[in-house]
Amino acid sequence: MPHVSGLRCRECDREYPVEPLNVCDFCFGPLEVVYDYASIGNSISRESIANGPLTMWRYHDLLPVNSEYVLDMGTGFTPLVRAKNLGRALGLDNLYIKNDSVNPTFSFKDRVVSVATAKALEFEFDVLACASTGNLAGAVAAHGAKAGMKTMVFFPADLEKGKIIGAGIYGADLVAVDGTYDQVNRLCSELADNHHWAFVNINMRPYYAEGSKTLGYEVAEQLGWRAPDNCVVPAASGSMFTKIWKAFNEMADLGLIDRPKTGMHVAQAEGCSPIVEAYDQGTPHVRPVVPDTIAKSLAIGNPADGFYALQTVAASSGSAVIAPEDEVVEGIQMLAETEGIFTETAGGVVVSGLRRLVKKGLIKRDELTVAYVTGNGLKTQEVVEDLISPIETTPDYEAFQTAIAAR
Ligand SMILES: *Cc1c(COP(=O)(O)O)cnc(C)c1O
Ligand SMILES: [Zn+2]
Repeated sequence: MPHVSGLRCRECDREYPVEPLNVCDFCFGPLEVVYDYASIGNSISRESIANGPLTMWRYHDLLPVNSEYVLDMGTGFTPLVRAKNLGRALGLDNLYIKNDSVNPTFSFKDRVVSVATAKALEFEFDVLACASTGNLAGAVAAHGAKAGMKTMVFFPADLEKGKIIGAGIYGADLVAVDGTYDQVNRLCSELADNHHWAFVNINMRPYYAEGSKTLGYEVAEQLGWRAPDNCVVPAASGSMFTKIWKAFNEMADLGLIDRPKTGMHVAQAEGCSPIVEAYDQGTPHVRPVVPDTIAKSLAIGNPADGFYALQTVAASSGSAVIAPEDEVVEGIQMLAETEGIFTETAGGVVVSGLRRLVKKGLIKRDELTVAYVTGNGLKTQEVVEDLISPIETTPDYEAFQTAIAAR
């Protein structure tokens, strides 16, 4: 791993070796990977990236993983779709959807888990585990299967069926916890302290989180090596949101794109919006909430990266927006009916949030805007089930005419 020199505390700058650690012993601040950008600069170019695999691993130089442990399941380099129809409906001339619902386990979580799994193999863990709001469970279970590891996924017991089945099918041990995600996370933190298990989003978190940067790199490359004017991104812990901004800035530092002038807009559902509430109140400190939302994949009441997400909003002159609970399904339906993309609740939050940002004048018609669709609608079918009713008929010409007339 020639380009990584260690870990560093985001709060007190103390340095740590490359180990399965996530918090600073001195101040409890989160640890982040430290890169040697001078050496990355010597080996990376637009050309070298373009010649790489058509997956997230084309950005391997900017990820903290040794080549021999890379587990390329085909994650990433997902479509950036020009969304003319949705744009017209919302009043935008230059809208794109980053469709990350088409990854191997149908959410962006494959990106972070790909990096964390490679790290877990390198650190010689036998068990891959996670505390999940839903999509992470499937990603961990699939990567664990491919890596030949034992997998153990913990999630709130009220999770959507598609997400439980979408993890169990890979042979993972499923642990349904009678509690909120934040309680699941607390249990898992205790387990991580006492077992030699790689919890991808706990003891492996500094490496895991870096995987989200590829969502920024890809969009800049797909736009012809430029950062967009706006990004609209859903937040649970807030990590992905901060890493997309980090990605654009790293690319600028390396001379791959111009300095980003992107407005970074973070979207949360009304029933779990601690980051947006702090933004609205003008405080940098996120007050934890007890989630009560249809968007279960975003239901983190005490977001680990909330403080840094607010810093990203400020540094990028972005904003934070709430999607009302009753507009989440509207957003899902709107994206499906205009662009043919079926997203889960997190995508509904983004589309509904984007609509509000345009109405408020925070995103303007001509600006190049990217909306991040991070998960697949087939996993949250229960939220749209009631909208769907087939015309019923016997296999008979007359009966069909009658049935369609009745509709
Ligand atoms: C986990 C998840 C997010 C949020 O990720 P964070 O980095 O924790 O903010 C967004 N969308 C989907 C579909 C997710 O599963
Ligand atoms: Zn520290």
